[in-house]
Amino acid sequence: MFQIMGGKMNQKILTVYENFQNVSLSIFFDELILFINRYHYEFTKYVSKDYLEAMEKFEAKYFILGHSDNNFEIGISYYRNLIEQGLDKENICRQVSLLIWDLSGYMIDEICPICHDSNLRLASSIGREKLIKFCDECLSTEIDGKFVQTDEEILPANRDQVNSYLREQAL
Ligand SMILES: [Zn+2]
Repeated sequence: MFQIMGGKMNQKILTVYENFQNVSLSIFFDELILFINRYHYEFTKYVSKDYLEAMEKFEAKYFILGHSDNNFEIGISYYRNLIEQGLDKENICRQVSLLIWDLSGYMIDEICPICHDSNLRLASSIGREKLIKFCDECLSTEIDGKFVQTDEEILPANRDQVNSYLREQAL
Protein backbone atom coordinates (compact mmCIF):
# COMPACT_ATOMS: atom_id res chain seq x y z
CA MET A 1 0.00 0.00 0.00
CA PHE A 2 1.28 3.42 -0.73
CA GLN A 3 0.38 6.68 0.88
CA ILE A 4 0.37 10.14 -0.63
CA MET A 5 2.68 12.35 1.41
CA GLY A 6 1.07 15.41 2.90
CA GLY A 7 -2.46 16.55 2.27
CA LYS A 8 -4.35 18.45 -0.33
CA MET A 9 -2.95 21.75 0.87
CA ASN A 10 0.50 20.47 0.07
CA GLN A 11 -0.51 19.51 -3.48
CA LYS A 12 -2.30 22.79 -4.10
CA ILE A 13 0.61 25.03 -3.19
CA LEU A 14 2.98 22.81 -5.15
CA THR A 15 0.85 23.36 -8.25
CA VAL A 16 0.96 27.14 -7.74
CA TYR A 17 4.75 27.04 -7.36
CA GLU A 18 5.18 24.76 -10.36
CA ASN A 19 3.26 27.25 -12.43
CA PHE A 20 5.55 30.12 -11.42
CA GLN A 21 7.66 30.21 -14.56
CA ASN A 22 4.69 30.10 -16.91
CA VAL A 23 2.74 33.01 -15.53
CA SER A 24 3.32 36.67 -14.79
CA LEU A 25 4.25 37.85 -11.31
CA SER A 26 0.75 39.38 -11.02
CA ILE A 27 -1.02 36.13 -11.81
CA PHE A 28 1.30 34.25 -9.47
CA PHE A 29 0.62 36.75 -6.70
CA ASP A 30 -3.16 36.52 -7.15
CA GLU A 31 -2.94 32.71 -7.10
CA LEU A 32 -1.16 32.89 -3.75
CA ILE A 33 -3.90 35.15 -2.38
CA LEU A 34 -6.51 32.70 -3.67
CA PHE A 35 -4.64 29.93 -1.88
CA ILE A 36 -4.69 31.91 1.38
CA ASN A 37 -8.44 32.47 1.07
CA ARG A 38 -9.03 28.81 0.31
CA TYR A 39 -7.09 27.73 3.41
CA HIS A 40 -8.34 30.59 5.59
CA TYR A 41 -8.92 28.30 8.54
CA GLU A 42 -5.34 26.98 8.55
CA PHE A 43 -3.92 30.47 8.22
CA THR A 44 -5.92 31.74 11.21
CA LYS A 45 -3.82 29.44 13.40
CA TYR A 46 -0.52 31.04 12.46
CA VAL A 47 -1.18 34.54 11.12
CA SER A 48 -2.73 37.32 13.21
CA LYS A 49 -6.37 38.10 12.47
CA ASP A 50 -5.79 41.69 11.30
CA TYR A 51 -2.92 40.75 9.05
CA LEU A 52 -4.76 37.81 7.55
CA GLU A 53 -7.91 39.83 6.87
CA ALA A 54 -5.85 42.48 5.10
CA MET A 55 -3.83 39.93 3.15
CA GLU A 56 -6.91 38.07 1.94
CA LYS A 57 -8.05 41.22 0.16
CA PHE A 58 -4.74 41.87 -1.57
CA GLU A 59 -4.72 41.98 -5.36
CA ALA A 60 -1.67 42.28 -7.58
CA LYS A 61 -2.92 45.53 -9.07
CA TYR A 62 -2.71 47.29 -5.69
CA PHE A 63 1.06 46.78 -5.47
CA ILE A 64 4.31 47.27 -7.31
CA LEU A 65 5.48 43.67 -7.36
CA GLY A 66 8.97 42.25 -7.43
CA HIS A 67 10.86 45.45 -6.60
CA SER A 68 13.52 43.97 -4.34
CA ASP A 69 16.76 42.01 -4.33
CA ASN A 70 14.89 38.69 -4.01
CA ASN A 71 15.64 36.07 -6.61
CA PHE A 72 12.23 34.49 -6.91
CA GLU A 73 13.30 31.75 -9.29
CA ILE A 74 15.81 30.40 -6.79
CA GLY A 75 13.56 31.13 -3.80
CA ILE A 76 10.57 29.30 -5.19
CA SER A 77 12.52 26.26 -6.30
CA TYR A 78 13.89 26.09 -2.74
CA TYR A 79 10.34 26.36 -1.39
CA ARG A 80 9.21 23.59 -3.75
CA ASN A 81 11.90 21.31 -2.38
CA LEU A 82 10.76 21.93 1.18
CA ILE A 83 7.15 21.15 0.23
CA GLU A 84 8.19 17.97 -1.56
CA GLN A 85 10.05 16.88 1.55
CA GLY A 86 6.77 17.15 3.45
CA LEU A 87 6.58 20.61 5.02
CA ASP A 88 3.83 20.83 7.65
CA LYS A 89 0.81 23.12 7.41
CA GLU A 90 2.18 25.68 9.82
CA ASN A 91 5.31 26.18 7.77
CA ILE A 92 3.37 26.24 4.50
CA CYS A 93 1.33 29.13 5.94
CA ARG A 94 4.47 30.94 7.09
CA GLN A 95 6.19 30.34 3.76
CA VAL A 96 3.28 31.70 1.70
CA SER A 97 2.88 34.76 3.96
CA LEU A 98 6.58 35.51 3.67
CA LEU A 99 6.43 35.11 -0.09
CA ILE A 100 3.58 37.64 -0.27
CA TRP A 101 5.72 40.06 1.71
CA ASP A 102 8.80 39.45 -0.46
CA LEU A 103 6.80 39.99 -3.65
CA SER A 104 4.92 43.10 -2.60
CA GLY A 105 7.22 44.91 -0.14
CA TYR A 106 8.80 47.70 -2.17
CA MET A 107 12.54 47.87 -1.51
CA ILE A 108 14.06 51.35 -1.56
CA ASP A 109 17.56 52.50 -2.31
CA GLU A 110 18.41 53.02 1.35
CA ILE A 111 20.43 50.63 3.43
CA CYS A 112 19.31 49.83 6.96
CA PRO A 113 21.23 52.18 9.28
CA ILE A 114 20.99 49.70 12.15
CA CYS A 115 22.38 46.44 10.71
CA HIS A 116 23.73 47.63 7.33
CA ASP A 117 22.73 44.20 6.04
CA SER A 118 19.75 44.93 3.84
CA ASN A 119 17.95 47.71 2.08
CA LEU A 120 14.79 48.96 3.72
CA ARG A 121 11.31 48.22 2.46
CA LEU A 122 8.33 50.51 2.46
CA ALA A 123 5.58 49.30 4.71
CA SER A 124 2.36 50.66 6.08
CA SER A 125 0.24 50.56 9.18
CA ILE A 126 -2.80 48.31 8.84
CA GLY A 127 -5.12 51.30 8.40
CA ARG A 128 -2.86 52.77 5.65
CA GLU A 129 -2.47 56.07 7.54
CA LYS A 130 1.28 55.74 8.19
CA LEU A 131 4.23 54.96 5.95
CA ILE A 132 6.88 52.89 7.71
CA LYS A 133 10.37 51.80 6.68
CA PHE A 134 11.22 48.25 7.63
CA CYS A 135 14.34 46.05 7.60
CA ASP A 136 13.80 42.35 6.80
CA GLU A 137 17.15 41.42 8.34
CA CYS A 138 17.08 42.95 11.82
CA LEU A 139 13.34 43.80 11.90
CA SER A 140 14.08 47.43 12.72
CA THR A 141 11.11 49.63 12.03
CA GLU A 142 11.32 53.34 11.34
CA ILE A 143 8.30 55.18 12.63
CA ASP A 144 8.30 58.98 12.60
CA GLY A 145 12.03 59.15 11.96
CA LYS A 146 13.06 56.84 14.80
CA PHE A 147 14.12 53.21 14.57
CA VAL A 148 12.39 50.97 17.06
CA GLN A 149 11.53 47.33 17.60
CA THR A 150 7.79 47.09 17.56
CA ASP A 151 5.04 44.52 17.65
CA GLU A 152 2.84 46.69 15.49
CA GLU A 153 1.46 44.77 12.52
CA ILE A 154 2.68 46.20 9.25
CA LEU A 155 1.58 45.60 5.69
CA PRO A 156 3.55 46.08 2.50
CA ALA A 157 3.08 49.65 1.27
CA ASN A 158 0.63 49.75 -1.60
CA ARG A 159 1.15 51.28 -5.05
CA ASP A 160 -0.28 54.67 -4.04
CA GLN A 161 1.86 54.88 -0.94
CA VAL A 162 5.02 53.96 -2.85
CA ASN A 163 4.26 56.47 -5.59
CA SER A 164 3.65 59.31 -3.18
CA TYR A 165 6.86 58.44 -1.31
CA LEU A 166 8.83 58.45 -4.56
CA ARG A 167 7.26 61.76 -5.63
CA GLU A 168 8.29 63.30 -2.33
CA GLN A 169 11.85 62.03 -2.74
CA ALA A 170 12.08 63.54 -6.21
CA LEU A 171 11.25 67.05 -4.98
ZN1 LIG B 1 18.49 46.15 9.56
